[in-house]
Amino acid sequence: MHVNGSCHCGRICYEADVDPALVSACHCTDCQVLSGSAYRVSVRAPAATFKLTSGTPKTYVKTADSGNRRVHAFCADCGAPVYACALADPPFYSLRVGGLQQRAQLPPRQQIWCRSAVPWSANLGVVAQQERQ
Ligand SMILES: [Zn+2]
Ligand SMILES: [Zn+2]
Repeated sequence: MHVNGSCHCGRICYEADVDPALVSACHCTDCQVLSGSAYRVSVRAPAATFKLTSGTPKTYVKTADSGNRRVHAFCADCGAPVYACALADPPFYSLRVGGLQQRAQLPPRQQIWCRSAVPWSANLGVVAQQERQ
């Protein structure tokens, strides 16, 4: 699936080709803190297909408990997360699904790091719903 996305303020735009089977929801504590949410939904895009069409994201290098280091790219103006990737020669970019225009067609196919999932994230279907705020 060809996808395109942008940050909230629109300074950073990008496009890529993704396999919808590779969408995952990550419940690790790093994703919770870095996304400001209960979990983060991402999809892998092969590096050869990923293209920044406007702007240059700011990057933050995160060191995981394992010692593994990853680049996290985000808009320096609006703060929206754009992607994460390996430090050198990334084989793929992990795109943040919320920034993609096609996000409604990209439901997660797997959940990872469930051991640190916040318990209420498993069933939002039971929470009262309103069309708008
Ligand atoms: Zn922005
Ligand atoms: Zn994570």
